[in-house]
Amino acid sequence: MRKYIVAGNWKMNTTVPEGVELAKAVAAKAGEVPANVELVVAPPFTHLVSVAEALKGSKVALSAQNCADHEKGAYTGEIAANMLVSAGCSYTILGHSERRQYYGETDEKLVEKVKLALANGLKVILCVGENLDEREAGKHFDVVAGQTKAVLYNFTAEDMKNIVIAYEPVWAIGTGKTASAEQAEEIHACIRKVLADKFGAQVAEDTTILYGGSCKPSNAKELFAQPDIDGGLIGGAALKADDFIAIALSF
Ligand code: PEP
Repeated sequence: MRKYIVAGNWKMNTTVPEGVELAKAVAAKAGEVPANVELVVAPPFTHLVSVAEALKGSKVALSAQNCADHEKGAYTGEIAANMLVSAGCSYTILGHSERRQYYGETDEKLVEKVKLALANGLKVILCVGENLDEREAGKHFDVVAGQTKAVLYNFTAEDMKNIVIAYEPVWAIGTGKTASAEQAEEIHACIRKVLADKFGAQVAEDTTILYGGSCKPSNAKELFAQPDIDGGLIGGAALKADDFIAIALSF
């Protein structure tokens, strides 16, 4: 059965006390959200232990925003998958366009990261999405299908039970420009077809595919009403508990 998820990517925002306050505010309202919608928050690494404590007893799951492509050792500044688990994470976001764009995250590195995340019991939110030039050149289907295959075709149908995909058109992230419900739906359907070709129709049907890119309370309902959109990965609007919860109430 496909799961609905609303996940908040806090990016490099909030101090630890601010993050704890935000997590507490989300947790306090999480009970209003229907049981079939999972809530996830992804604060910066420095906040994870404190936010895990703040979320205790709530239905809100904890995610990291990234993890290392090595298991352990001499990788200064990196955070390993098993460390995330020990800090209380059940998810990690991987392959966000900001990591791909600013930190040289390649599909090859992502394969290693996904492997380590899954091996350590984390669920993965894998981000894919085309940039503006690629969309204007009409390459968006090929780019997104290519990113999806380059990473996920290295995994099994069993692995797919712990992998969520987030379609995030780069031109819509933090820009206030949302993909229309039709633009998002046709890419989500394309991703599901890419999954069906490799893993079969049932895996494709069961995989959660989130939309991300300027999703907010005013547009979430129309996006989530699409048959292949199973929730959202939310950036800016996840920094306000009321907006985040309002989005989760939009199914
Ligand atoms: C994101 O970066 O994952 C995102 C979707 O950001 P925003 O909602 O701010 O566009």
